[in-house]
Amino acid sequence: MAEIISGKEISEKVKAEIKAETEKMKEKPGLAVIIVGEDPASKVYVNNKAKGCEQVGFLSRVYRLPESTRFEELSELIKQLNTDREIDGILVQLPLPKHISEKEVINLITPTKDVDAFHPVNTGRIMTGDYYFLPCTPAGVMRMLREKKISVAGKKCVVVGRSNIVGKPQAMLMLNESATVTVCHSKTVNLKEECRQADILVVAIGKAKFITADYIKPGAVVIDVGMDRDENGKLCGDVDFEGVEKVAGAITPVPGGVGPMTIAMLLSNTLTAAKYAGKK
Ligand code: NAP
Repeated sequence: MAEIISGKEISEKVKAEIKAETEKMKEKPGLAVIIVGEDPASKVYVNNKAKGCEQVGFLSRVYRLPESTRFEELSELIKQLNTDREIDGILVQLPLPKHISEKEVINLITPTKDVDAFHPVNTGRIMTGDYYFLPCTPAGVMRMLREKKISVAGKKCVVVGRSNIVGKPQAMLMLNESATVTVCHSKTVNLKEECRQADILVVAIGKAKFITADYIKPGAVVIDVGMDRDENGKLCGDVDFEGVEKVAGAITPVPGGVGPMTIAMLLSNTLTAAKYAGKK
């Protein structure tokens, strides 16, 4: 049976470190989270982010704007936050309502306050390995691997999914740490064969329990980024945990795996931003 990599436990350790650093600071790091509209999943994520801030002693502000908010109004708020000294990190919860361009909104955030690391300046920095912030989910995956002393150098890593927020940066971070990386997506021919080559398999596709035991090389490390609902509406990942844990060497559960790490990395980025802003 595979070792269970508990993101929950590791995230508690990361948060304790952040809290200890924050307690020593005279000016507390501050995170502003903006949510537009009533998407139920987004509301849960935003509440969890605010709760995380509270846990580590950050200042937290949540801006809840109506679905009808115009781009100009959102733009005005972001510009104010860009120059607000209390606020070190600005996060706009995605998705935004269809009438607002996510790209244009992200481009408005000052890169040094872009704690999601979605601004083109920050995504570009990932390419060169000279990064300032890392996008929270792939950073959380890398931190989990480090905590478990699983080196990616020289390993065959397969990332399934090529989204801008998970798959692509995940592949780049693994490449930057000297892995041999394959990125798969919906047009990949023979996905199962590709996955079976992986020493470390990261799955981020958004399809409940899609990756079954026959996709796994015995002993492989399996990281499940997915957050899906099964046929009974229960939270699950992209990986069929019950089958795969019998074949894998180590596996992350859902819930309690990558999810809590994502929030911990957001807090870590906010602390970095506060230091960058000169807070001590
Ligand atoms: P996304 O933007 O929808 O991208 C999904 C990717 O998976 C695409 O690249 C798509 O390929 C690929 N894909 C879809 N079906 C496939 C298939 N049958 N075979 C191979 N590839 C396939 O999703 P995302 O935002 O990256 O999120 C992925 C999952 O992670 C979701 O469940 C999401 O909820 C979860 N997530 C979790 C966290 C966390 O903190 N735990 C954070 C972010 C996301 P194409 O590009 O060819 O369409």
